[in-house]
Amino acid sequence: MSLLDIYVLGAPILRQETRVVEKVDDGVRRLIDDMFETMYAAKGIGLAAPQVGRSERVAVIDIDQKPYVIVNPEILQREGTQRAEEGCLSIPEIYGDVDRAAHVHVKALDRNGEAFELQADELLARCLQHEIDHLHGRLFIDYLGLLKRRAAISKWEKLRKGDKSLTRTISPREVAEQHTRDEEL
Ligand SMILES: [Zn+2]
Repeated sequence: MSLLDIYVLGAPILRQETRVVEKVDDGVRRLIDDMFETMYAAKGIGLAAPQVGRSERVAVIDIDQKPYVIVNPEILQREGTQRAEEGCLSIPEIYGDVDRAAHVHVKALDRNGEAFELQADELLARCLQHEIDHLHGRLFIDYLGLLKRRAAISKWEKLRKGDKSLTRTISPREVAEQHTRDEEL
């Protein structure tokens, strides 16, 4: 397994549609393993393929030590609403309140290519919606009001101090010290 670089806000791949995975083969499983390793090192709870520069429709999630792989996920049903603060590994240290469905019913393929369905609430439901958005080129800041979105982007640019790189390299030690506050997806 290897740690992958994470693409950050401004990288075109984060805005692109992913492509359906035709067959969950060893190459896709290797990507899944690398994505889990990268997500854990970055102290995230979710990671989608475009965030590591890939265009497969694949995301991984781990909440409370329960890992989920979702390949070609689709939201079949949404119910209710919930609002909570959200962050993203591709926009580190930027957070904002996002309205999401309280409950989702999702279908996807697992790491063996087997179809499954999942009913989720609360944080898992939020995380599924965040990651599935990534697979369609959407980011959580898109849901913020205009002023909050502008403020988030200007804070992000300030934190970057003129750095124009489109990826960040995850070093487990450094990141573990840095992120003590919120969960990023
Ligand atoms: Zn994200």
